[in-house]
Amino acid sequence: MTGESGVRKSSLAKVAEFLAAKGPGGTFSKLELFEAVPDVSQADRRMRDLRQMGWQIDNYKVNPNLRPDEYLVRALGTRVDLGERAPKLERKNITGPKRRRILERDGHTCQACGVRAGQEFPDAPGRTAVLTISHIVPVSQGGQNTDDNLRTECQRCSSPSNAPAPALPSTRQVLDRASQRPFTDKQLLYSWMKAGQRTTSETEEIFYAWSRLAPADRAEVMAALADEIINELTGR
Ligand SMILES: [Zn+2]
Repeated sequence: MTGESGVRKSSLAKVAEFLAAKGPGGTFSKLELFEAVPDVSQADRRMRDLRQMGWQIDNYKVNPNLRPDEYLVRALGTRVDLGERAPKLERKNITGPKRRRILERDGHTCQACGVRAGQEFPDAPGRTAVLTISHIVPVSQGGQNTDDNLRTECQRCSSPSNAPAPALPSTRQVLDRASQRPFTDKQLLYSWMKAGQRTTSETEEIFYAWSRLAPADRAEVMAALADEIINELTGR
């Protein structure tokens, strides 16, 4: 869609136009949005920008009636598509030091599914995790940039409709697999389910710390640990 005198509308205006056409109460899927706004990679970012201009767009995280790929327009904000001037955007980006602090606190692990930065998703081999800092209470709902409202999430958990569609497991399959785990694993699994997120064990944290040492230091720690293991095995 082009604007006056053939000037291309900004992707922000295009997204606003699409949302306004849905109107308050209208729902749409991400695919529909992508079809309407060809510069796909920008659509998510533009929705975030619009939320800061008073647009209220719910996703499944705040509205359990929505499917993971579905959005609901609750209220229109600044009509940038009609040339209304956007208020100065208060950038809600998480700054470098804060970003690093949150990543560090969360052990560079998605707090929803437990995947680590650069790790392959267990159900999608070949696809690696990229971590972002997400708001627990969305900015559009008044969520702040405070540490307790921020957490590390992978691209799939922070934006589930970006995920490829792996074959969904059945309830039976999940339960069967869980039932086959040893008792301590069941207890751990249950605690994760209860918390709604996977915690990082001390062992995993140590491994992560070790993996960031220089190669020579890693070798030193490995050699020392090997000695400890041998000593314990030989009862010394
Ligand atoms: Zn995740």
